[in-house]
Amino acid sequence: MGKITGFMEYPRVVAPDRPPRERIRDWQEFVQPLDEKDIETQAARCMDCGVPYCQSGTLLNGMTAGCPTHNLIPEWNDLVYRGAWQEALTRLLKTTNFPEFTGRVCPAPCEGSCTVGRLGTPAVAIKSIERQIIDRGFAEGWVVAEPPRVRTGKKVAVVGSGPSGLAAAAQLNKAGHWVTVFERADHPGGLLMYGIPNMKLDKGIVDRRLDLMREEGIHFVTNTEVGNDYPVEQLRADFDAIVLCIGATNPRDLPVAGRQSRGVHFAMDFLRNNTKRLRNPNHPYISAEGKDVIVIGGGDTGTDCVGTAIRQHCRQVIQLEIMEENPPTRGAENPWPEFPRIYKMDYGQEEARVIFGDDPREYKTTAKRFTANERGEVTGLDIVRLRWEKGDGGRMRPVEVDGSEQHLDGQLILLAMGYLGPEAMLLDKMGIERDSRQNAKAEYGTFTTNLTGVFAAGDARRGQSLVVWAINEGRAAARECDRYLMTETDLS
Ligand SMILES: Cc1cc2nc3c(=O)[nH]c(=O)nc-3n(C[C@H](O)[C@H](O)[C@H](O)COP(=O)(O)OP(=O)(O)OC[C@H]3O[C@@H](n4cnc5c(N)ncnc54)[C@H](O)[C@@H]3O)c2cc1C
Ligand code: SF4
Repeated sequence: MGKITGFMEYPRVVAPDRPPRERIRDWQEFVQPLDEKDIETQAARCMDCGVPYCQSGTLLNGMTAGCPTHNLIPEWNDLVYRGAWQEALTRLLKTTNFPEFTGRVCPAPCEGSCTVGRLGTPAVAIKSIERQIIDRGFAEGWVVAEPPRVRTGKKVAVVGSGPSGLAAAAQLNKAGHWVTVFERADHPGGLLMYGIPNMKLDKGIVDRRLDLMREEGIHFVTNTEVGNDYPVEQLRADFDAIVLCIGATNPRDLPVAGRQSRGVHFAMDFLRNNTKRLRNPNHPYISAEGKDVIVIGGGDTGTDCVGTAIRQHCRQVIQLEIMEENPPTRGAENPWPEFPRIYKMDYGQEEARVIFGDDPREYKTTAKRFTANERGEVTGLDIVRLRWEKGDGGRMRPVEVDGSEQHLDGQLILLAMGYLGPEAMLLDKMGIERDSRQNAKAEYGTFTTNLTGVFAAGDARRGQSLVVWAINEGRAAARECDRYLMTETDLS
């Protein structure tokens, strides 16, 4: 159980970031691993409290509390503390397929629910420990392809190769089914490959996992949009079951005057093409070089746009957020073990502060109209300040502050305001009924659809979410699918 007084003796230390001025000069990951001895000390801070909310993975007040894949955190912390790294890896891989992804990009709701954190001491550095366990596993050669010994002869199609599709494929293959993953992009990985930028998740880490999955017998078919390039009738005829993991890739638009101006783009077009040109220097991309960049949206996607624009040498960057700034510490309405809604300076904002002197975020603002020159090129954005006040039924609503209109110069404006759900094409062609968001978010759904033998998982099912939820959903859908094919399942 770690060291009983570890949390009293050792301060929290997390894997350090490279200094902003150094890291913006390249596209390498900015988080560096800790020394292994330091990680063992950090693992000693887990007190095995017996109240492991860290692994509960539930929704409290609409936010994730604890680890959605129910990682056995106190157990692997203890093993790391004792230096039993290979056993820790075995324990980690019992509940998740891809800790090398979450150890890098997860917002770590486990840490917000850690009991040590409740005591006024900083939480155990769970995410840093997770990453080190799997990275060491790969470095030592402990992570190897494990193809199933027996094949069932059943064939399953997984549509979409993001983390939910990859997790579903890995689990169904483990159960002995022949799995084919269809992906419309030129490379598998979904948002792991063409959404989350390289400096958060190196693409070599994604490729390493894809190679292992191929070795295990999973077949990937890229450049193939199911519904267009591969008809749905053929899909149903060729496979015994189908798992839809098509993501929630419909971006929220901003239909105000001037939206059609050249230089206004969805964030994903900016990010995807930048990653593609890093893989192929001839690939066309949207450049921020020398431009004033305005990012509309204060979430993770917006932050990734800020970090990318800075690496592309923008002149300045502003990030607009409609909500109020979070408080520095938890408010009474946001108690442990809820996800802490507190002020956070993410990597992109930290870089902007160091380079341009300030946090780039402007809170409580909304866009009124884009402005453009006679050539139709965007020149900026008119914004207005907001205040939040209680409306009918006590719900908070934004009200424009009179006389607060302001013009911002911008030659590149990026829309990063979230996603509205899955695209309709394939669902309509297959005749899939949409579930209510409330049902889809239920922790233990059936992952079935109105069509027998067709399952759904990930952002497509629960709405825009997190990599860790996608992995959990892929595993759960695989369980349901295996039970459908074999009447019972051994998948966890
Ligand atoms: C810019 C950005 C940054 C993010 N950063 C983080 C982060 O730091 N941490 C975190 O936890 N989460 C992050 N997220 C969220 C996370 O990436 C998603 O929740 C997760 O990838 C969802 O996984 P998924 O498998 O459901 O869908 P996706 O990853 O979206 O994959 C769906 C795949 O399906 C394919 N597809 C769709 N339709 C078809 C079809 N008809 N035929 C074939 N293929 C099809 C798509 O091309 C896509 O590759 C981020 C999201 C974005 C956009
Ligand atoms: S996947 Fe996320 S929530 Fe789960 S242990 Fe890792 S960092 Fe924590």
